Amino acid sequence: MRMLLLGLVAAAVVSAQTQPVLGENTVKVSEHVWAIMGWPNIGIIVGNRATLIVDTGLGPRNGATAARVATKLAPGNRKLFLTTTHFHPEHAGGASGFPEGAILIRDAVQQQEMEAHGKEMMELFAGRSAQFKELLANATLRVPDITFDTEVRLELGGVTARLLWFGGAHTKGDELTFVEPDRTLVSGDVVQNKIVPGIYREGGTPASWLAVLDKVAALNALHVLPDHSAPGDGAMVAREKAFITDLRNRALALKKAGVTADDAGKRLETEFQAKYPAWPSMHVAGFVRSIYAE
Ligand SMILES: [Zn+2]
Ligand SMILES: [Zn+2]
Repeated sequence: MRMLLLGLVAAAVVSAQTQPVLGENTVKVSEHVWAIMGWPNIGIIVGNRATLIVDTGLGPRNGATAARVATKLAPGNRKLFLTTTHFHPEHAGGASGFPEGAILIRDAVQQQEMEAHGKEMMELFAGRSAQFKELLANATLRVPDITFDTEVRLELGGVTARLLWFGGAHTKGDELTFVEPDRTLVSGDVVQNKIVPGIYREGGTPASWLAVLDKVAALNALHVLPDHSAPGDGAMVAREKAFITDLRNRALALKKAGVTADDAGKRLETEFQAKYPAWPSMHVAGFVRSIYAE
């Protein structure tokens, strides 16, 4: 029965995680951290003075939902901060739905990517379906109130959110949020739960991703809230590193043996499906190409 229930919860999470319209239900991740499970998961960090939201959802309607949920969690908090894990539209394309007074903060590298490619990405996503087009209608890029180079600490009242830039991984500007004293990491795409990593265009490299993970490991997180998979414990960080290292070693061995990147992608997909049977999909070809390109 317990197994069955866990299975049902997992299935509910999986279906929410492909649903681009955010709901208003939250799950509690740790003492000060809540999440709306959706596409993507939205992190909400609640202090006794201020609230921080991590990610917006796709388009302003979702952004407004995230802000409304945060206000419901802490009606007395006058100050609302917003930050984004990276510049992609489902993570940052809802900023214009937030109330005027919300304070937008992100790392400077992410902001550069937003200025260079943010609008183009929104147009790309709007072309994917009628629903995406509708959700992104009237979405505008919001100029951040604060940018930072490597770290900024937000004192929210009884809880501190450290916003961190450790280097490129999924994108160049990937931001991590570490909540103290909870030791909860809001990990974006950098640490996922049984999801094959992906480097978007000129994002990071497999080597820079591993270097980022070493810095993340030093935080010694107790809880991890990723953006496209289920929350888990701090062991997710080491598992992410082990997976990337494993895939990288195998791909480099095949490269050395003269196997083409495309063939290596196919072979390693089969090999890793057998090796990691609990992972829902094993589309490693893209990451293998990134390893070959290093
Ligand atoms: Zn992304
Ligand atoms: Zn995403």
